[in-house]
This record gives sequence, structure tokens and C-alpha cells, in this order.
Amino acid sequence: MRSFDELLVEAVALHGHLCPGQVLGVRMAVAGCQAVGVENPTQSKELLVYVEIDRCATDAIQTVTGCKLGKRTLKYLDYGKLAATFLNTQTRRAVRVLARDDSRDKAPTYAPEVRGKEETQIAAYRVMPDDELFVLTPVFLGVPQEDRPGHPVGRVLCSACGEGVNDRREVWRDGRVLCRACAHGAYYTPLAVREIAEAIPPELERFGQL
Ligand SMILES: [Zn+2]
Ligand SMILES: [Zn+2]
Repeated sequence: MRSFDELLVEAVALHGHLCPGQVLGVRMAVAGCQAVGVENPTQSKELLVYVEIDRCATDAIQTVTGCKLGKRTLKYLDYGKLAATFLNTQTRRAVRVLARDDSRDKAPTYAPEVRGKEETQIAAYRVMPDDELFVLTPVFLGVPQEDRPGHPVGRVLCSACGEGVNDRREVWRDGRVLCRACAHGAYYTPLAVREIAEAIPPELERFGQL
């Protein structure tokens, strides 16, 4: 593993700024990799990381581990929690690393000479011991075939929209195969459909789209 300072410089370059999340994310990733016995994460083929938030620290975890969404080695779960699980697929060892909420309150004790909230956290998170920053929990998780890196497992066409769906993300309903957007409703509304709609749901107004 490269030194903390080297990793932090790299994380800041990718993320775009130095923030408490970069320091925490680098430390989370180092702690997680060590806990599951992955020495050189960017060289390893066996590491999978599950992140639970789409905020600053996630970019640092990506930098340190080299895990990426597009390689299917980084998984994103929208839990809104500053936590990540590190899985060594060779040994099956997995550890969830949760950032402790109370580390924020303790930060001033570790950097009493520093002014400013963010600056204090940045300085303190560099030096605080792991157990003051994180809770590490050994966990078990299986990785279904369709979630693993490698070639897609199956591809079908949605019977409603005709679009292709990879890796068993389809939904079967009354004997028909559907994509998740057609089965559960999509996060977007095609403009053509919206413009001809007689009644536009008032709740869309709060998104400032109208
Ligand atoms: Zn940031
Ligand atoms: Zn569809």
C-alpha cells in the first residue's frame, strides 16, 4: 500500500478539492483493504467494494481501491450512510467500515491549534486512531452471478419499450418480460409524452421542471 500522503494527493486530484471526505475516504479504504487482506488494491483482481453514499468519501475510496462502477468492482447502494463494505472474493472475507458520527465532535481534541470546522476535521482525521473514526464489522455477503465482473449474464428485450436489459435486471409480470422502468415507473418522463399529457402531476413543479 502506498503512503497515506500519496493516496491523499491522488484522491484530491480525482475529486477536485481537499475536504474531510477525502481524508476519511482514504482512511476508510486503507482500513477496509487491510481488514480483508488486500495489500495492493489497485493491482488486485479479487477486491469488490460496496459504497453506501454518493458523497465526497466515495471518490477517495475509488481512488485508493481502483474499484470502478464500469468494471463492476464498485457497487453503489443508495443508503445515505457513510459506510462501505470491502470484500475479498478469493478468501470470502468481508468487512463493513462505518464512519462514526462522534468523530466530528472529537476532531477539535486532535487538532486544537487549527481554526475552522473543515480544516479541523481535515487535520484531525489524518491522525485519529482507526477505532475512533470507524466501526469495523465482519460480514457475509454473497455475490450473485449477475452482479459479478465479466461478461453479461443474459440479455433480453423489454416487451413494452423494446430496449435491451442485461444481467437479469428484467422483471417478469403475467408472463411478459419488462424492464424495471416499464414495470415500476422510470425516473424520467419523455418530453413528447409530457407535452401531450392533459394533466401534469403538480408534484413535478417542486423539481422546477415546469
Ligand atoms: Zn469533497
Ligand atoms: Zn421497458
